[in-house]
Amino acid sequence: MRRKLNHYTSISRSFLMFILILVLSAAGQASTFDVSKYVAKIEPDLINKSVKGDVLVRFSSLKNGLTEITLNAGVLSIDAIKENAVNLKFQCKDKLLKIQLGRPLKQNEICNISIIYHGVPEYGMEFFSAQNQVYTEFSTSQWMPCVDDPNDRAVFLLNLISPDGLKTIGNGRLVSQSKLADGKVSTIWEQKNPVPTYLFGFAFGDFRESVVKHGRTTFRYLADKSFSENDLKNIFRDTGDMLDFYESKAGVKYPDETYGQILAMGGAKQEMSSFTALNDEYGRSVLKNEKEIWLGVHEFAHQWWGNMVTNRSWTDFWLNEGIANFMTAAYFEHRFGHDEYLLQIDNYKKSYEEVRDAGHDKSLVFPEWNKPTRDDRRLVYDKGAYVVHLLREELGEEAFWKGIKKYTQKYRGKSVDSKDFQKEMESASGKKLNDFFDKWVYSHS
Ligand SMILES: [Zn+2]
Repeated sequence: MRRKLNHYTSISRSFLMFILILVLSAAGQASTFDVSKYVAKIEPDLINKSVKGDVLVRFSSLKNGLTEITLNAGVLSIDAIKENAVNLKFQCKDKLLKIQLGRPLKQNEICNISIIYHGVPEYGMEFFSAQNQVYTEFSTSQWMPCVDDPNDRAVFLLNLISPDGLKTIGNGRLVSQSKLADGKVSTIWEQKNPVPTYLFGFAFGDFRESVVKHGRTTFRYLADKSFSENDLKNIFRDTGDMLDFYESKAGVKYPDETYGQILAMGGAKQEMSSFTALNDEYGRSVLKNEKEIWLGVHEFAHQWWGNMVTNRSWTDFWLNEGIANFMTAAYFEHRFGHDEYLLQIDNYKKSYEEVRDAGHDKSLVFPEWNKPTRDDRRLVYDKGAYVVHLLREELGEEAFWKGIKKYTQKYRGKSVDSKDFQKEMESASGKKLNDFFDKWVYSHS
């Protein structure tokens, strides 16, 4: 029962997702340019719950004569935009930032612009002043102008400015940390593998930290000081086993040097590149019952399915969430036995059937993803996972897992749609899956 609760709370984080999707659908201009790198200096203000920063955006033009680009920028106030110290004209409207370039760009021409900004994020960044804690959650454009499109991958170099004496976490590799003249601390993080911007993030806080080595990977566990170091080791003790399990199923190594898990204030449930924000309640539940790890298992699965292999657009969101939900059940099978797998799958199935019986079934490839309802999200997460389970039954163990491996290996660092998934599962099994996909993925009951 408890596991089921975790499961549904995971789905309900979707309020943020809902807002994000609205923003995403508005951008629509990413196809005229491609961002390859963001270099940002970001300073959150705990007292005022605000942020100030500057970001260098490196992009290339995808057409001849590009004179304007549009970024997502939430409700941030833009102070100035420059290219080589020359001010550029811009306009902010409906959370979009339109920038007039200084000259028309040729196809493939690279341009660097710097944006100086400040503001109060509406969501996407959580502030807990009493605990000196800040963390990001999902909507990057709320705290840094960027392209909110899962199909636009970029590297990220972040100089995070925080108060002294706090632990920090960011994407990828910790490059350096130094104390500034004003007593604040600058920590530089570098994400070398290009990832979609929704996976950018960071956190700092008065955390207790526990560090565990597992093969070539370092695990960092961070939580409020009410947790002892031993608590942290217990809460996250399956992390190494999960990593081994996912690597073996994906046929792809975990890509970063570290994987961090933080137990944050509030209801954090968010995967980011190379770390995940979970919540205090999650930690306390796992301490009481080792089977309460559903959320941690699900979020870690995203480091492969979601972060590494990413849905090209949100209409194929089930490839992120349905597969991550299925992999969670598969890990439960590995860790706790086949009955636990069946229990998880049964939960997904029941959830799907409730939606279907209410007359709200839809194809897994959504016609559009502009205003998803709670039932829409249950379809993506739960029907999605159930359908992956049915595919496992259809293909048998060997062909199914071979297909998962081929799909993950082939599309590592790339964007996918449902046809890509179908093709790899067909190629691994030698079976035509048109009927299966037509019934379960492209149409609905
Ligand atoms: Zn997820």
